[in-house]
Amino acid sequence: MSVLSVVVPCYNEEESVADFYTELMKNEPFFREKNLEVEILYIDDGSRDHTAAEVKKLRETDQRVRLISFSRNFGKEAGMYAGLEKSRGDYVVLMDVDLQDPPSLLPEMYSYMEQGFDSVATRRVSRKGEPPIRSFFARLFYRLMKRISRTEIMDGARDYRLMTRQMVNAILQMQEYNRFTKGIYGWVGFQTKWIEYENVERAKGETKWNFWKLLIYSLEGITAFSTVPLSIAAVMGVLFCALAFALIIFIIVRTSIFGDPVSGWPSLVCIISLISGVQLFCMGIIGQYLAKTYLEVKRRPIYIIKDEI
Ligand code: UDP
Ligand code: MG
Repeated sequence: MSVLSVVVPCYNEEESVADFYTELMKNEPFFREKNLEVEILYIDDGSRDHTAAEVKKLRETDQRVRLISFSRNFGKEAGMYAGLEKSRGDYVVLMDVDLQDPPSLLPEMYSYMEQGFDSVATRRVSRKGEPPIRSFFARLFYRLMKRISRTEIMDGARDYRLMTRQMVNAILQMQEYNRFTKGIYGWVGFQTKWIEYENVERAKGETKWNFWKLLIYSLEGITAFSTVPLSIAAVMGVLFCALAFALIIFIIVRTSIFGDPVSGWPSLVCIISLISGVQLFCMGIIGQYLAKTYLEVKRRPIYIIKDEI
């Protein structure tokens, strides 16, 4: 008998907790057929509503439900890490509680595991129901990442993924503080089967992401899995040095031929402000990496548990 752990990060999701359970348990015949023992780990990521209470209610009727409550909101990445760490399954699957990751896909995913894949990942091929501007930037981000990172990060990839214990242990070995799971999956490797599905809209409650949060998250992804921006800063430095050198020669030649009437201060101002802009920009890039390094060397724990059932 194998154990399947279902890890569900929740943040203010009191409306969805029970619905998710019902939906997941529609797979009960499949679990029985495959002789799978299921455990459901709800990770309450510092919710301020009754998420934890809802989970405890489920626990009263079903001992397979487990709850891990954080001392505050640590973010979904921390939730997923805690879930993987606390899971006991031979197989682990990560799912959103809002039913955007349809539990009905599980039997199909599991069938690929039986064929010998180490991991079955999902990606949505449409982004219907999402604001167009958000889709646009999301696509842009994945295109950019493809170019600047050697780690494979799939466009439209969800965090919804079924993995073997071996792969979970590999992910757990990556104890970085700035976590970008989509990159981590690619980094650890293993044989992955991709399943595609149409986007499903959130069943209840509201998304926890706004544009600003997503932008910051994408910067996290870039700094965590690429150092190309640093090289861009260096290359820009070299280019501007070359340009300045050419200008110096030009001015020396011009002055010696035509003399030196006092003019050209507007162009000077333009050049100075352009170059200081570029300098600040490059310092910003370096600052980003330095900040990440700073947080990383502190070796703070990824999450703090307040309550565990
Ligand atoms: N989530 C979390 N901690 C957070 C934000 C979100 O655990 O700080 C959970 C949330 O409860 C949900 C999943 O992560 O189960 C995905 O969040 P959401 O549906 O808001 O994101 P979206 O699907 O819109 O990208
Ligand atoms: Mg969602």
